Amino acid sequence: MEHVSARLASLSPSATMAMNQASKDLKAKGVDVINLSVGEPDFNTPDHIKEAGKKAIDDNFSFYPPAPGFPDLREAISAKFKRENNLDYTPEQIVVSAGAKNSLANVILSLIDKDDEVIVPSPYWVTYAELVKLAEGKNVIIRGVIENDFKVTPGQIENAITPKTKALLLCSPSNPTGSVYNKAELEAIVKVIEKHPRVYVITDEIYEHINFVGKHESIGQFSSIKDRVVIVNGVSKAYAMTGWRIGYIAAPLWLAKTCTKLQGQLLTGPTTNAQKAAVTALNGDQSCVKDMLVAFKRRKDLIMRLLKNVPNIEVSEPDGAFYVFPKIDTYIGKSYGNQKIESSNDLCLYLLNEGHIATVPGEAFGEPTCLRISFATSDDNIVEAIKRMKDALANLI
Ligand code: PMP
Ligand code: GLU
Repeated sequence: MEHVSARLASLSPSATMAMNQASKDLKAKGVDVINLSVGEPDFNTPDHIKEAGKKAIDDNFSFYPPAPGFPDLREAISAKFKRENNLDYTPEQIVVSAGAKNSLANVILSLIDKDDEVIVPSPYWVTYAELVKLAEGKNVIIRGVIENDFKVTPGQIENAITPKTKALLLCSPSNPTGSVYNKAELEAIVKVIEKHPRVYVITDEIYEHINFVGKHESIGQFSSIKDRVVIVNGVSKAYAMTGWRIGYIAAPLWLAKTCTKLQGQLLTGPTTNAQKAAVTALNGDQSCVKDMLVAFKRRKDLIMRLLKNVPNIEVSEPDGAFYVFPKIDTYIGKSYGNQKIESSNDLCLYLLNEGHIATVPGEAFGEPTCLRISFATSDDNIVEAIKRMKDALANLI
């Protein structure tokens, strides 16, 4: 007899992690699968960062860390905000966690009460809606459409705000769409938030450095709402450090303290040698970040070119991150033998089992007309994967 708590019973497993696993399972059976599901850089962590992690082990950073992270890392993050974003956050306003996912969980659990509403623009990253559910809050989904590069408008946000609204969750550059809010668009959103002093903005900027259109703009730059903004970021994407599990927030002091309290009970603190590696990532030579950006941009151009030759899909060009989110709904309702494709989920399973490419269904991101393709893989893999996708789609009737 199972006795799962109602809180956990209603939680969906991570679809990105699930597709990644399904792809690996098929590969383990000897099938040559190209994995475009999970979003992680395919690069190794740069050597100077790895060396710092190794040195930390030799230097016996093997004892419990302070709950909010080592002081030198919080200082490095504070300096990063000044240097890269011209934002003033003291080290006390920084909390380091085991990945930005952990940071988001801390923030949402610290801020959201039962029945509080959180405005989540869709398509959204899989984890947001689940964390809000975990906090017993209510997701209020507003839909970004492909005609507007999947971005929501200030009017949509304004219309969604009620007396119960506690937070707006923004993600720019976006996972899964790659859309980027420019300064004017953020300013227009700020004008709405200014009018509602109870509403916080949680801004996920983990793809800050994977931006193809120019300088990253943070909603944290607007002083009128800065005391209601929480920035979530981390080293996973910019420095190819997904497995090190280091993320962080910059927040109003009271919220940083609350997250620290929660973290002291849930995690103790983030892994010691990973923190030391993150100090080197942030304070060290930044050329690795630029080099990876060049590769991601080349791959983005490549995949956009290839997708133009796939019939009956619509693609919005990503301005950042490493995903494309094509609209594939013209294939829903088609069949392969006696197998009917009833959803994006079915299409992804079909592409995995018959086309041997792993993608993630749009349902997981709140947009069932699309599917997500990660292009954080080699150029050769991209060429072969889109060929397989095109061939597999052509076999549907
Ligand atoms: N936010 C977004 C939008 C992401 O795509 C990811 C990647 N999984 C995260 C947060 C979490 O990143 P991590 O936990 O690896 O730092
Ligand atoms: N951000 C990545 C993705 O969306 C990693 C997977 C995850 O953390 O869920 O695929």
